[in-house]
Amino acid sequence: MSDSRRVVIVPCSGIGKTYGSVSREAAYDVTEDLRPGTTQLVPLSLLVLGDESARASVADARAITIDGCKLACATKMVKESGGEVAKDYAVLDVYRRYKQFKPQGIAELNEGGQQLAQALAQEIAAVVDDLQGGQHG
Ligand code: SF4
Repeated sequence: MSDSRRVVIVPCSGIGKTYGSVSREAAYDVTEDLRPGTTQLVPLSLLVLGDESARASVADARAITIDGCKLACATKMVKESGGEVAKDYAVLDVYRRYKQFKPQGIAELNEGGQQLAQALAQEIAAVVDDLQGGQHG
């Protein structure tokens, strides 16, 4: 995988919020299970802290951001770090498409939350494939 094809996934750090937990869970699903070879998770917290390697990872790759609310912290921070946001997701919008999965819980998501995260992760994996010219990673 060349660096130019790498896609970074940046979930917001909405700790204490159900949608923030969905965003992180979806990011793990993509980077650990669905597309481990072509994606990299960059935690929002490291970008906020100004971590050099996290900023460098974002600056030279395309990013998919996942935000837990309208403040869109992950999207804003990627832009501020010099990254290109290829696609930005808001968990609430995703939930509107999958109303059957009602997320609850914070530290431990309920089954609906897990299913919503998995549905979101599948969408993100498809976007990653598109960005990479249709190849699975
Ligand atoms: S986007 Fe919303 S939920 Fe996520 S870290 Fe920012 S304020 Fe919190």
